[in-house]
Amino acid sequence: MSNISKNLEEIRSTLKDNVTLVAVSKTKSAEEIMEAYKEGIRDFGENKVQELEEKYELLPKDIRWHLIGGLQTNKVRKIVGKTYLIQSLDRESLALEINKRAENKGILVDTLIEVNIGEEPQKAGILTENLGEFITLLGELKHIRVKGLMAIIPQGSEEENRNYFRKMHELFEKLAEIKQERFSMEVLSMGMSMDYMTAMEEGSNMIRVGTGIFGARNYTV
Ligand SMILES: *Cc1c(COP(=O)(O)O)cnc(C)c1O
Repeated sequence: MSNISKNLEEIRSTLKDNVTLVAVSKTKSAEEIMEAYKEGIRDFGENKVQELEEKYELLPKDIRWHLIGGLQTNKVRKIVGKTYLIQSLDRESLALEINKRAENKGILVDTLIEVNIGEEPQKAGILTENLGEFITLLGELKHIRVKGLMAIIPQGSEEENRNYFRKMHELFEKLAEIKQERFSMEVLSMGMSMDYMTAMEEGSNMIRVGTGIFGARNYTV
């Protein structure tokens, strides 16, 4: 058995029933992705538009592509219609651009709101205090559908991680009470290779695992 198959088997044996595993394939080849695909994985995460586009053209059409990295507004046009879920909806200008391009194509784009739960200045994501206003704006954008939340938590101890995951889960539950068109809290995307067990314990239902499946990334190629 290849390493990828072995890693997948191991991770899957620990998954809770309601949890979707997104295999984060950034920097990884089409061959490596196909190994995971043959094991039944259909959700793949990429953080760059160009890389996602190339792989989208090359690989089977039943793959569900998740965009998990920062999205520049000038690249929205290229990606709209190719994603299953844009997980990095993190600002008003991006929402307006996605909505415009989706309207041109006559489609509805599914998204997660990225929350900067650690309030880290260098990180993307909406601050908790600004969520209300952002969600109200999204109510006006008829070609965007919000399916839940995504977070990349600060690096820290297991206990610190758990606290951030818990905060996210509380936020998720609170926002679930909002009644708005094209707005629902179904997906809580949090947890990566090093901390997904903790994330699942604290209510994550979508984990994003890269190195844990494919091994270390080589950024120099
Ligand atoms: C790269 C990446 C991951 C996966 O990280 P690993 O530590 O390799 O599991 C998850 N989420 C986002 C947003 C990423 O950019």
